Amino acid sequence: MQIPRIEHFIAGGALAPAGGQYLEVHNPATGEVIAEVAAGSAADLDRAVAAAQAAAADPAWRDMPGEQRATLLHALAQRLYAHAEELVYLESISSGGTVSRIAGLDLPAALDICWTMAGIVKDYPFVENLPARPLPELTHGQVVKEPIGVCGLITAWNFPLLLLLAKTIPALAAGNAVVVKPSELTPQTTARFAEITADLLPPGVFNVVHGHGHEVGAAMSRHPDIGKISFTGSSRVGKLIQVAAAETCKRVTLELGGKGAAIVRPDADLNLVAYGALFGVMLNAGQMCESGTRLIVHKSIEQPLLAALAETAARLAVGNPLDPATSVGPLSSVAHGEKVLDYIRLALDEGAHLVCGGERVQVPGCEGGLFIAPTVLAGTNNRMKAAREEIFGPVLVVMTYEDDEEAIALANDSPYGLSAGVWTADLVVAQRMSRRLQAGSVWINDWHAIRTDAPFGGYKESGYGREFGIAGLESFLETKTVITAFQRDPHAKPLYGLLH
Ligand code: NAD
Repeated sequence: MQIPRIEHFIAGGALAPAGGQYLEVHNPATGEVIAEVAAGSAADLDRAVAAAQAAAADPAWRDMPGEQRATLLHALAQRLYAHAEELVYLESISSGGTVSRIAGLDLPAALDICWTMAGIVKDYPFVENLPARPLPELTHGQVVKEPIGVCGLITAWNFPLLLLLAKTIPALAAGNAVVVKPSELTPQTTARFAEITADLLPPGVFNVVHGHGHEVGAAMSRHPDIGKISFTGSSRVGKLIQVAAAETCKRVTLELGGKGAAIVRPDADLNLVAYGALFGVMLNAGQMCESGTRLIVHKSIEQPLLAALAETAARLAVGNPLDPATSVGPLSSVAHGEKVLDYIRLALDEGAHLVCGGERVQVPGCEGGLFIAPTVLAGTNNRMKAAREEIFGPVLVVMTYEDDEEAIALANDSPYGLSAGVWTADLVVAQRMSRRLQAGSVWINDWHAIRTDAPFGGYKESGYGREFGIAGLESFLETKTVITAFQRDPHAKPLYGLLH
């Protein structure tokens, strides 16, 4: 069978890489090569940035009224919907995400991003008039919000389509042109999005340059004609980007890693917690930034909760992500899966004990992938590597506390600050605790509840800036103040000693 070849998408059409090189793309469930993708270079990026610059400068695009942009975003959503089945399939075979999750959660969320942003941009005050100030002379002031120009969007492999939409939609709503660098591991849905929306967007407004992060991504972070980088990925790479972007004072939004902590109070409904905590950490086999990876449980309920967790975990089906009955798919690669197993082994060496899981699962027909049984480790503490570092696998670490203050301190004892939560029947206490938790998202009796109209992002090493909602749109805008003087009388204006 001919392996599909994925080219760059520049100025409205496909373009082969200047260097003529391609990278293999694998299906994480089977290990098979499913595509080859352009290995981009700084020269390819320059072509895309030039196309984006021209598109960004076109007044027909730059000054398009908000209402017209809203119509465009609805059209993009419709196009996604029309290609839903194909996109779900491509996303699953490249990222290893289960079709049930991608169809039931990712795709509706992607559509919701378009619809929510359409609603925001339709009425957004791109020009605001300030109240008149008559002294010392009559002036009129305006605050104008303008597109930044060319924005570089760099995405991770775990949710390629959703991350693409989370960045592209607000960037376009704000009137920018973009150059996207998807993860080299999962380029398919980004490439397909470019093709299926090509007739809706002016050429050059949406460009894709594929390739390695240390080549294309690093060149983007330094590029003098890119005004902003929006990045989702590891904290390690996020820090490199922030340093590189500082050279040209680029705006940056960084959505990085996490080590989410969920506090379980003694009054919580344990069956709900068992289900919710596993949903919080096993979705996408734990390969999610905002996963609830640390469960901080009141000592008095530890044993019954561990039993409920083991029982619920046993009901999660590990399997081929293309099977709609599968709840937990493969790790993104065999190498990554081995690292997850190492974390589990190390935690056991450090004194943790296994409540369930902990081993590799063989999935018929998917011998080339690495699957891990939903794993719960008890007897852990914040000194252990498994509790400090982002494992990015289906692993829940459980530790205990004795009072609310200790629970909050344990939750906050992390370099990360993306997500946190409280499971309790007492919503007044939960509200109070939510204000003390150092995280960009706090869920009370829930997890992964991300609203496209609410800001999402991290405290501490989980990132910088926010996506979604009005904050997401504004992160792609510059602010300009325009002052117009009326009744100009040179004798009336104080000149502070400049002229006498
Ligand atoms: P990664 O940092 O390895 O790669 C992310 C992207 O950056 C890829 O496109 C990669 O090619 C590129 N890249 C790599 N080196 C680069 C460099 N030097 N300069 C510029 N770009 C470079 O991350 P990953 O393994 O793809 O994704 C997993 C990470 O993403 C996890 O840490 C996870 O928590 C995080 N994540 C965060 C969020 C969030 O919203 N906060 C969402 C999803 C994933």
